[in-house]
Amino acid sequence: MVNCQGPGTPDTIDVLVVGAGPGGSATAALLARQGYRVRLVDRAAFPRDKACSEYMSPETVRLLDGLGVVPALEAAGAMPLDGTAVTAPRGGRLLGRFIGAGAAYRATGLAVSRRVMDHALVKAARSAGAAVSERTAVEELLYDSGAVAGAVVRDADGRRHAVRARLTVGADGLRSVVARRIGRRRHGRLRRLAFVAHVEGVRDMEPVAELHVGRSGYVGLNRIGGGRTNVAVVVPADRGAEAKGRPEAFFLGALEAFPAVARRVAGGALARKVLATGPFAAWSGRIVADGAALVGDAADFFDPFTGEGIYSALRGAELLAASAGAALAGGGPVTAAGLAGYRRARRRAFAGKWAIERIIGYAMLCPPLFDRAVARIGRRPGMADTLIGVTGDLVPARRVLNPLFFARMLF
Ligand SMILES: Cc1cc2nc3c(=O)[nH]c(=O)nc-3n(C[C@H](O)[C@H](O)[C@H](O)COP(=O)(O)OP(=O)(O)OC[C@H]3O[C@@H](n4cnc5c(N)ncnc54)[C@H](O)[C@@H]3O)c2cc1C
Repeated sequence: MVNCQGPGTPDTIDVLVVGAGPGGSATAALLARQGYRVRLVDRAAFPRDKACSEYMSPETVRLLDGLGVVPALEAAGAMPLDGTAVTAPRGGRLLGRFIGAGAAYRATGLAVSRRVMDHALVKAARSAGAAVSERTAVEELLYDSGAVAGAVVRDADGRRHAVRARLTVGADGLRSVVARRIGRRRHGRLRRLAFVAHVEGVRDMEPVAELHVGRSGYVGLNRIGGGRTNVAVVVPADRGAEAKGRPEAFFLGALEAFPAVARRVAGGALARKVLATGPFAAWSGRIVADGAALVGDAADFFDPFTGEGIYSALRGAELLAASAGAALAGGGPVTAAGLAGYRRARRRAFAGKWAIERIIGYAMLCPPLFDRAVARIGRRPGMADTLIGVTGDLVPARRVLNPLFFARMLF
């Protein structure tokens, strides 16, 4: 812990945002638009790759549109998605279409490389007036009378210096430094790893996201433009040792457990090195503190299956910008009490979704149950659209979290 004395110096900025993924760039853009002095730092240089299935529901696209980046994504070749198809271990299939789910901002989602999307979001933050420092890593937090007062960063030249801020936002992802300091991190029992490839020439791709569930893991497929398909294999974390130092070989081997997918991928070519990430299922018991708040994966991330991490990061940024904007307006210190509205708003926005993510995540551990549920949903008109609409934030979670839906799904 680094302590600093007294009230902010003239160099004290309003907001330091740590991490320029979707959560950080959106928070920086929205607070800069409100006229605050914002600095956004990331240890990476953009454009950079990110292990992700690169799927976005129509609601995610709506939030991206609010940040002004959708035309750039479409110009870069983002692919439209009509919905999501889930194949269960014994071959049962359900297809949920966004249009069937009802009131959407538009009928299609998008799939595009995170290399393109995250770069567009960083540019949006910069255009909104945030100062952006790339290749700049936060190493520790600064404190003033017990409140977070900024951070110590190591810049692109290797120099360490202090950035003092009235509010420090941890948007630094799954392994967040800020969350480790303030967030009371917790880990779930569902520990999984992902291996994500870009493959050229995958056969029989359609304009839907595909999820293929196996006996102990799953594969996601998404067309991301330029003739490439994102192929993500998710396996239990205890297989990590097998992959050490050989992610490509492990990825191709793990794919063999999904023969129908492996046949379509065979003959294609890896267009980028395979990125490995995990384990997931980590969240913060505390998302606001005096002088600090968490957003995106630094706040919580359970499992990639429902594909809404980007939505949560962007929607969380909107909720945080509303609450933090008001807390900053007073001119004094930003306290945890002043940010309590953010904590409450997150719970209202995400509680249903957190429950559904967990139900789906644990149901996959019981393949016969998963087979049965997919077969029933696939056969009954409208249920698949509702389920995919809920996971895509188009439809309220209560449409699935009710006894009738569960009864029809299982019996
Ligand atoms: C395998 C997989 C597949 C997924 N597929 C999807 C999908 O299809 N659709 C979807 O919506 N979501 C998906 N997700 C989830 C999604 O990727 C995340 O929820 C989303 O990226 C969260 O955004 P974020 O801004 O919180 O964090 P990130 O996108 O992780 O960004 C964090 C940033 O912080 C930076 N950083 C980290 N530490 C520091 C530091 N100390 N100092 C400075 N900078 C730092 C990093 O360089 C990074 O740029 C997937 C996740 C995984 C693991």
